[in-house]
Amino acid sequence: MSASPIIIVGSGMAAYTLAREFRKLDAVTAITIITADAGDAYSKPMLSTALTQGKTPAQLVNMSADKMREQLNATILTNTAVVAIDVAQQSVQLADTSLNYSKLVLALGADPVRPQLTGNAADSVYAVNDLADYSRFRAALADKKRVTLFGGGLIGCEFANDLVNAGYSVDIVHPHHYPLERLMPEAAGMAIKTGLANLGVHWHLGFAVAVNEDNGELRVTLNNGDTFTTDVALSAIGLRPRIQLALSAGINTQRGIQVDRQLHTNVPNVYAIGDCAEVAGHVLPYVLPLMAQARALAATLAGTATDVAYPAMPVIIKTPACPTAVATPNQLDSGTWQVECTADGVCALYQDAQGLLLGFALTGTATSQRQTLAKQLPPILASS
Ligand SMILES: Cc1cc2nc3c(=O)[nH]c(=O)nc-3n(C[C@H](O)[C@H](O)[C@H](O)COP(=O)(O)OP(=O)(O)OC[C@H]3O[C@@H](n4cnc5c(N)ncnc54)[C@H](O)[C@@H]3O)c2cc1C
Repeated sequence: MSASPIIIVGSGMAAYTLAREFRKLDAVTAITIITADAGDAYSKPMLSTALTQGKTPAQLVNMSADKMREQLNATILTNTAVVAIDVAQQSVQLADTSLNYSKLVLALGADPVRPQLTGNAADSVYAVNDLADYSRFRAALADKKRVTLFGGGLIGCEFANDLVNAGYSVDIVHPHHYPLERLMPEAAGMAIKTGLANLGVHWHLGFAVAVNEDNGELRVTLNNGDTFTTDVALSAIGLRPRIQLALSAGINTQRGIQVDRQLHTNVPNVYAIGDCAEVAGHVLPYVLPLMAQARALAATLAGTATDVAYPAMPVIIKTPACPTAVATPNQLDSGTWQVECTADGVCALYQDAQGLLLGFALTGTATSQRQTLAKQLPPILASS
């Protein structure tokens, strides 16, 4: 009887990066990838710049699932959800069968947080966290002129800039007086707000409580009683790691699926990476962390136990109306922001009492300092 394969659940950047990294080290061990979606490989960050780049959803596919099967020498089961994990039997349950694994990697991603809305069109609010969502959103934009975004976070601001670039009139509803308030101080957030406002984006302070459809347009009602009309509404109020499958199987979860620095859960032979994972206490839903995780886990699965290391990993926010880079400090109670504003940008440095740099937020011309400053930051998880 042949040995059970390594099973990877998911076909996002985390899953495919892991499979690629593993194949560099081991060409023969059987890999089965099981994914609830179509299994096409694409770069998710491009979803919030595709309009500006003139790309259709189909043009965002870098490689079809068939090509990925060939490239990775892997079995890929598409449009197939894992519904349960039996950790004692080392098997995953699909709708009509179960499959045994030698090692199981959960690369399940995250779910968009749904806004709490009333109204006859509450269900017509879009959220975009994968290519299929994006295709539906793009179809909804056809012949429409006005788009409203719920949430002025990283993804909301990026979509706002992209939609304006493509000629849409954009409203953003955000409960704080400046965007990205959890990542940066007021001056930097205000620079983004002003940059987008200068493009024509209308900012509304508050949060949406109702969406009603009337005569072919949507009426948005805010918690402060304000209302306005729009054609399409897109929610970008946050993501929640997908933990339910792990939780039901007795795998430890908190904000994400809890893993140690070898990406190992508390259950033998079960690992987690990407947006679903909480790695040594850190939930970092970005590309650079998942790549570091994938490299470390590939080495571990190939026989060399390897801890993941995280250098400082600044995030570039794709808002050309106000170029921005941010490196969020590990803890926002360990120092203070020192903010310097010029006509062309904001340089905000987060320093501890001894003047040690712990994080930064840079806008405009100050973004040119990103690499120099990043080298001064302590690693998030030091090499062991
Ligand atoms: C619009 C947008 C822009 C972004 N821009 C940036 C950026 O500029 N820089 C950056 O660093 N990060 C960015 N990010 C974040 C980055 O894209 C994500 O961190 C990354 O793509 C997550 O990859 P993942 O593989 O963990 O999750 P996902 O890509 O969500 O993949 C999860 C996979 O799991 C599958 N799955 C889930 N449950 C099951 C199940 N039960 N059974 C089978 N399959 C299942 C899904 O079908 C999917 O294939 C952006 C995100 C968005 C939404």
